Amino acid sequence: MKRGVMGILAAEFGLRSVINAAGTMTSLGAAVANEEAIAAATELASTFVEMPELQRAASRTIAAACGADAGCVTACVASGIVVAVAATMTGDSLARIESLPVTDGLKNEVLLLKGHSCHFSGDVAQMIRLSGAKVVELGAVNRSTAYQLQGAIGDATAAALYVVSHQTAQTGMIELREFIDICHSRNIPVIVDASAEYDLRGFLAQGADLVLYSAHKFLGGLTAGIIAGRKDLVRACYLQEQGIGRAMKVGKEGIASTIAVLKKWDGLDRQDLERQETARSQNALDRLNDMKGISVSLEPDPTGNPITRVRVRVNEEAAGIDCESLRRVLAHGSPAIYVRAHDTDPASLLLDPCNLDDEQMECVTSSISAILSGTDAFDRLKEILPLNENIQNWPDAPPLGPLN
Ligand SMILES: *Cc1c(COP(=O)(O)O)cnc(C)c1O
Repeated sequence: MKRGVMGILAAEFGLRSVINAAGTMTSLGAAVANEEAIAAATELASTFVEMPELQRAASRTIAAACGADAGCVTACVASGIVVAVAATMTGDSLARIESLPVTDGLKNEVLLLKGHSCHFSGDVAQMIRLSGAKVVELGAVNRSTAYQLQGAIGDATAAALYVVSHQTAQTGMIELREFIDICHSRNIPVIVDASAEYDLRGFLAQGADLVLYSAHKFLGGLTAGIIAGRKDLVRACYLQEQGIGRAMKVGKEGIASTIAVLKKWDGLDRQDLERQETARSQNALDRLNDMKGISVSLEPDPTGNPITRVRVRVNEEAAGIDCESLRRVLAHGSPAIYVRAHDTDPASLLLDPCNLDDEQMECVTSSISAILSGTDAFDRLKEILPLNENIQNWPDAPPLGPLN
C-alpha cells in the first residue's frame, strides 16, 4: 500500500500524531480543514485562475457572509493586521503603497488600548509596526476610558485597532461601540481583530470599518485571513499586494478554500454542532468527575463564542502532580495530547471540545486518569524538558521529543 505523507513523516522523521484538546492553535497546524475546504483547494491547486477575479468572487462571498460592502482574503489575520493598517495609511495610492514601510508624509499612528496589546503567539503591536506605522498605546492594562482615547487622537492618527479576544483584558476596557463613536467623530477608521470570534456580522453592524477573521479557526478552512468592511478600505487592503502585501500573499488555494468555508458556514446547523460539542465536554466531565486530586467544571467561552470547555483544576497535594507537569506528560506521550493552558491560572487547564472527536476526547480523559492514578508518569517526568524550552535549537533538536 502507498504510504501517506503522515506515514512517511512518522517513519522517517518521528513525527507523532496529535490529539488537540487545546482549541485552534497555529502551532498545531490551526484547524483540521473540512471537506469543502479541501475539495475547493484541491480543485484550484491544479488549474490557473485570474487572481483579481478570484479575489472579486471572494469579495462578494465575504460581503454576503459578513454584511459588508466588500472583502478580500489575506494569508492570515496576522498579515491582515499589517495590510489593513497599511491601507489606512496609503489609501489606493500605488505610489504610497510602494513606498511602505517608509511612512514619510503619511498619517502613521495607530491607536491600541494597552489592555488589547496582547500576544496571540505573535505580538499584535509588532504586526502594526510591520507596516511602517507607529503604535500609540493608551490607557492602562486594566483600564481605558473615553477621555484617554480622545486625548490620544492627533493629527498623525491613521487608524485605531480594537482586539476582541480572550487574550485581552476582559474588564475595564472601552466598549467597542463607544470606541467606534469616538474614533468616527474624529474621522478615524476602526479596524477590529476578531480572528477567533464566531460572530461574522456583529462588529461591522456596530460600525467597524474593517473586521478581520481567520479562515482556519472556527470556519475550518486552510490557512488564510478574511478582511471585511468598507469598500474603499478593502480595495486599499487588496492593493497592498502591489507593495508590502506581496511578501505575505495568499495563494489561490487559500482563497478558494475561504470561499468554500464561508458558503458552508452559511448553511451549517451551528446549534446542532454546539450541542454535539457541549455533549462531548459533558462526557469528559462525567468521566473525570470522581478522579482524586482534580475538580472539574464546565465553563463558557469568555468572549461569548458558543463553546463550552471543561476546566480541570489540579490539587497538587491530593493529585501527587502539579498542573504543569500533568500537561507536560500529556504532551510528551504518543499520540501527543495538547490541552488548553495559555490563558488559565497555573493550577488548572481546559479541555476544548471543538477540534477532536468523541474517541479522541475519551483518549484525553483516560490519559489524564492514568497519569493521576499513578502509572509511570513520575519517572518519565525526569526525562521531560519543559515545553518549548529549546525552540531556539531548531532545527538541531526537536522542541518536544517522544518518550519512546
Ligand atoms: C489567532 C489570532 C490572530 C492570528 O491569526 P492568524 O490568522 O493565525 O494569523 C490574531 N489575533 C488574535 C486575537 C488571534 O486570536
